[in-house]
Amino acid sequence: MGSSQYSHLKQEEGKVALITGGASGIGATTARLFLKHGAKVVIADMQDELGHSLCKELDPQSTTFVHCDVSKETDVENAVNHVISMYGKLDIMYNNAGIPGESQYNILDNTQADFEQVIRVNLVGAFLGTKHAARVMIPARKGSIINTASVCSIMGGLAPPAYTSSKHAVVGLMKNAAVELGHFGIRVNCVSPYLVLTPMAKDYVKQYEEGTLKLYSNLKGDVLKPEGVAEVALFLGSDESKYVSGHNLVIDGGFSIVNSGFCMYPQ
Ligand code: NAD
Repeated sequence: MGSSQYSHLKQEEGKVALITGGASGIGATTARLFLKHGAKVVIADMQDELGHSLCKELDPQSTTFVHCDVSKETDVENAVNHVISMYGKLDIMYNNAGIPGESQYNILDNTQADFEQVIRVNLVGAFLGTKHAARVMIPARKGSIINTASVCSIMGGLAPPAYTSSKHAVVGLMKNAAVELGHFGIRVNCVSPYLVLTPMAKDYVKQYEEGTLKLYSNLKGDVLKPEGVAEVALFLGSDESKYVSGHNLVIDGGFSIVNSGFCMYPQ
């Protein structure tokens, strides 16, 4: 059977995606999956060496790297312009870059500088990505914008104040943009993963091991991996989700729907 007979399985065939924070973790895994599904991918990140070597490893014909600090408007503008100059369009903007900030859970130990830096990357970065994607998607009257929020976008107490605040705010940004950009046929959504052991999370929750994490999940027998998030981003970027907009898709195996301290079922 020729590969063209499988082309319907390629959910992003002919599409162009820009992925911020694409050099590592969830972003890198999503880049790999998008490529597998026929997309051209531009990776935007601050880790230049890692980004370039990832492009080389993945597919140098269909992947490029652009240096970008998402908290700087000129960098984001430049990344979007780079996509347009290479491919003439932007179909999927994945605002995924993020930082955890200092591992200080106690508000008294939080510094204003750290709080502002987390907001600059996690929230302002998503704002700038949404703004500049909209700039090129509005004339095209289509596009899908995806933000990586977090289970911390709907719950408190899982992360330091800055991170939780930034992720709640990304959902607000997404809803506002979904309303405004819906008039131009542009969909805007969030993915909200539970803990995934990427380089960022490994530093963040040093005390957890993969085995231990199972204890904290409602869905037994499985652990969330970057691939699990990438599959959801693939869905939101594809036409299979063409009527899905303004949605915060939580990927937590049911973690956030139960109070494990007061539950009728064995935990
Ligand atoms: P990661 O550290 O593996 O990847 C994050 C990437 O973002 C890195 O490549 C980093 O260089 C890049 N980045 C950081 N600051 C940047 C900036 N200013 N400009 C451009 N790029 C920048 O971590 P990850 O877990 O893959 O994180 C991806 C996203 O997923 C983040 O938004 C994070 O908050 C979110 N998230 C992660 C988890 C988790 O448990 N890992 C859970 C929920 C949400």
